[in-house]
Amino acid sequence: MLYPWQRDDWLQLTALRDRLPHALLLHGQQGIGKRDLALHFAQGLLCETPLADGQPCNTCGACHWFSQGNHPDFSVVRPEALEAGAGGDAESDGEGGGKKKAPSKIIRMEQVRALIETVGVGTHRAGLRVVVIYPLDALQTEGANALLKTLEEPPPSTVFLLVTDRLDRVLPTILSRCRQFSVTRPTSAAALEWLRSQGVADVEAQLALAGGAPLTALHAAEAEEQPLQRWLVGQLGSAAAFDALAAAEQVQKLPVPAVLGVLQRWTYDLLALCLGTGTARYFPKEQAALARCAGATDAHRLQAFAARLVGLRRNENHPLAARLVMESVFLDYRQLFR
Ligand SMILES: [Zn+2]
Repeated sequence: MLYPWQRDDWLQLTALRDRLPHALLLHGQQGIGKRDLALHFAQGLLCETPLADGQPCNTCGACHWFSQGNHPDFSVVRPEALEAGAGGDAESDGEGGGKKKAPSKIIRMEQVRALIETVGVGTHRAGLRVVVIYPLDALQTEGANALLKTLEEPPPSTVFLLVTDRLDRVLPTILSRCRQFSVTRPTSAAALEWLRSQGVADVEAQLALAGGAPLTALHAAEAEEQPLQRWLVGQLGSAAAFDALAAAEQVQKLPVPAVLGVLQRWTYDLLALCLGTGTARYFPKEQAALARCAGATDAHRLQAFAARLVGLRRNENHPLAARLVMESVFLDYRQLFR
């Protein structure tokens, strides 16, 4: 995806398409969207019917494969720790018992070897082959040297998009083989506007703490909100004993959309149990509490409450009195139970 502050970067990247370098090194501050820009550019290069400005169409076969993560001419190399689902939600993962080894934060030599083998084969679809490596500084010396050989004798029709926020940690020999591209840092107005659109509360403070990097600020806000959201879920399970006013007091630091989102998912699960149409989808670990709550109410009331939540979400970005909204919706929630 492209962030609102990346329009000019996109035009510059698109202008490079006529004489595409073999290796493009995107660098800049951490948390400003370099990786997403590289992935979007990769998709644009592979797209069979790109838009006039070079953006991917999102509808062709190549775009479909890309979004499914199985385009045959696209490779992404990153440390195991950055793979989807690795480590990010460790706390909520109580299953399995046995301790897993912490996912690696470096790019292993085996990964580089596998990549070199892949790019040696040629392309499957007569277009380009695109390789994205991030962060490039996660390469160790041996891997960097192996990559260097490939960059010195690049396979035909292959483009390497390398991403780093630590230019100082990249081997000078690799730098000399790349065309460098400095990714734009958003203005603070653009970053603040985007953070607000993501439902982050107290955007100025969060952005300042993140050194002006909006993605870092978003992740920090989400991480901060998680314990409070989990606490709220625990409280919702007490049904008629739910203390609406105390809960509103506790969660007032959360943005209204986050609270309404939790309530909507919780209500969805309650309805599924109440109607007997399924098991808990969003809160499977709260199955016992959900069943207790579902047994103390009925589907008719739950549906009315779900409709009220939908209505509130329409106006959630104009929270005249966030605390009052939360109190009133929490009181309604308690009313669901006999
Ligand atoms: Zn496409």
